[in-house]
Amino acid sequence: MNTRSYAAMAAKTDLVPFQFDRREIGAHDVALDILFSGICHSDIHQVNEEWGPALFPMVPGHEIAGVVTKVGSSVSKFKVGDRIGVGVFVDSCRTCDNCKAGLQQYCAESMTGTYNGLERDGKTVAMGGYSNYFVINEDYAVHIPENLPLEGVAPLLCAGITLYSPIKHWNVGPGKKVAVMGLGGLGHMGVKFSVAMGAEVTVLSHSPSKEKDALAMGAHHFVSTNDSSVFKKHEKEFDVILNTVSAELDINQYLSLLRQDGTLVVIGLPGKPYAVEVGALLNGRRSIGGSMIGGIPELQEMLDFCGNHNIVSDVEVIKADYINTAYTRTVASDVKYRFVIDTSTI
Ligand code: NAP
Ligand code: ZN
Ligand code: ZN
Repeated sequence: MNTRSYAAMAAKTDLVPFQFDRREIGAHDVALDILFSGICHSDIHQVNEEWGPALFPMVPGHEIAGVVTKVGSSVSKFKVGDRIGVGVFVDSCRTCDNCKAGLQQYCAESMTGTYNGLERDGKTVAMGGYSNYFVINEDYAVHIPENLPLEGVAPLLCAGITLYSPIKHWNVGPGKKVAVMGLGGLGHMGVKFSVAMGAEVTVLSHSPSKEKDALAMGAHHFVSTNDSSVFKKHEKEFDVILNTVSAELDINQYLSLLRQDGTLVVIGLPGKPYAVEVGALLNGRRSIGGSMIGGIPELQEMLDFCGNHNIVSDVEVIKADYINTAYTRTVASDVKYRFVIDTSTI
């Protein structure tokens, strides 16, 4: 099926209009018209090869919200007209312990990414969501609650689940003090979920102008990290720190903010290693953890939670010809708080 998209034709270049063919639907596949597609900072890292060599032409996009247009003969989970979401992966081995446990993101053979990789046939280059049409196996797509606007839902498919999963895993809730580092696409979802779970929430940001927005999202405190004295002031304060920062930074300053047995969860992926002072870990039995998106059952759970609590991402809906500007603004931490492409403009 001929598909319109925006693609990077080579590393570190602007995205341009691009057409390619998607496969016909198989018995277990559904076809969808994409209506909205979020721009994740991971898209930018990969276009710029900040995580290593990538596949080009690359159609990024793994925050996909749309409507089912066709179902294969054996499909039971979806019907034509359903609202449907696709996230960061489109398949996995299905047989390893993690896949069987619904943790497909940690598949022993690696998840099959929505773009910048090969599909499970080992030869088709996966093309992502900056496009008007998609085909996916029904087991790797999720239902979108009827009461939520699709443009606000698209970012939940990556930014949302990526914060929901560690927030659940590290028991962020009543009586816990949590700090969210970086108020961008991921960070603002971390604030919304932590608040909904009943925790006391602090935003650690290098953009003082975001204070008003952070408090409007429900954060209880806002700390500008440009003033280095705040690291002394808030020493040993937090049970959990969720690090969503996309750039390199001194992680040790942030470790000092953890209280006894606290955990700093690394979520941002700048592509360069952190230099960790082990003394900062030993003192207070602190931990560094990591978390990557979430599996299909948790993705559905998160969307249902959002439906019940009326949670969506704060979005700036853009036309496709604004993608390159949106990239520049995101890198400059000037995103309020997720760019979402209206894919009818592709
Ligand atoms: P984003 O919207 O650009 O937000 C990143 C935020 O980090 C910025 O808004 C900014 O917040 C802060 N920041 C940026 N540069 C900084 C600097 N030089 N110093 C201090 N703070 C800085 O990005 P995103 O889409 O949320 O993604 C964040 C990171 O998570 C990316 O590296 C992405 O690849 C990664 N990611 C990981 C997963 C996973 O599964 N673990 C999933 C998706 C994305 P302030 O202005 O508030 O300081
Ligand atoms: Zn993402
Ligand atoms: Zn597996």
